[in-house]
Amino acid sequence: MKAAAFAYLKPASLPEAFAALVNPHAKVLAGGQSLIPALNMRLSSPELLVDITGLPDLAGISLQAHSIKIGALTTHAQIEACELVRKHVPLLAQAVRHVAHAAIRNRGTIGGSLALADPAAEYPACAVALDSVLVIRNKATERRVKAERFFKGLFETDLKQGELLVAVEFPLAKAGDKSVFLELTRRHGDYAIVGLAAHNERMVFLGLDSKPVLLQKKTLRQTKDQLPRNPPADLYHSSATKRHLAGVLLERAWNTP
Ligand SMILES: Cc1cc2nc3c(=O)[nH]c(=O)nc-3n(C[C@H](O)[C@H](O)[C@H](O)COP(=O)(O)OP(=O)(O)OC[C@H]3O[C@@H](n4cnc5c(N)ncnc54)[C@H](O)[C@@H]3O)c2cc1C
Repeated sequence: MKAAAFAYLKPASLPEAFAALVNPHAKVLAGGQSLIPALNMRLSSPELLVDITGLPDLAGISLQAHSIKIGALTTHAQIEACELVRKHVPLLAQAVRHVAHAAIRNRGTIGGSLALADPAAEYPACAVALDSVLVIRNKATERRVKAERFFKGLFETDLKQGELLVAVEFPLAKAGDKSVFLELTRRHGDYAIVGLAAHNERMVFLGLDSKPVLLQKKTLRQTKDQLPRNPPADLYHSSATKRHLAGVLLERAWNTP
């Protein structure tokens, strides 16, 4: 199947991008790794694609006073190769290796993944576990939203029409922090059946509900008891299986030194 016809614009500046995004039928195109398949399957048929890959303001990884700031256009492969991320955001460094396959990691972006908010994706759970801040702009203003408030539901975020996610800020890891990322998949590189991004007391599951599920660490038994009773089943795994697998990951993370 082929995509329905659409107009295409590749703005050279943020003001040009925001001017185009005034159109309620426009859609942002970043790495295209999720959007292009959706267009081809006609799950989405925008009038206009606004290709943001020519905007240098949205690229790059930098060390700030209290955070690592990652521009929305930074690809999974760039995150995987980044020494700053390995040193200061070890949870993300562990998680990125589970995102899809090398070819997709070369094109897909962190902004695209967070904006899409797939419940089985790795970055949204990491962003919540790390208490990260998403930086969002429209043509007039910039606002900052905690990850926990950004993810609203199934493929639903706090982004409003005309806005762009421009960056995400991950707090710097401190000495003694414990970060563990684990997931279970049918084949390496597939979306997770269920996964866990754990940072100190914050245990965040992916694939267990329509958005990341944050549990506060108590005793192992009490933490396990907080798992959702009836997580949504998928094509291959029942609700009970998913809950069981989440418990297995929780124990593994617990026992990771
Ligand atoms: C076979 C396959 C396997 C995959 N496996 C995984 C996996 O295991 N884990 C995982 O997390 N992902 C997986 N993905 C998805 C991949 O990580 C995508 O790269 C990512 O979800 C979207 O990033 P993108 O840059 O390609 O965004 P696009 O596809 O270009 O856009 C995705 C959505 O985000 C919006 N958007 C993009 N950038 C912005 C922005 N800056 N501001 C506002 N809105 C924006 C777009 O309008 C669109 O709605 C897989 C994809 C494929 C094809």
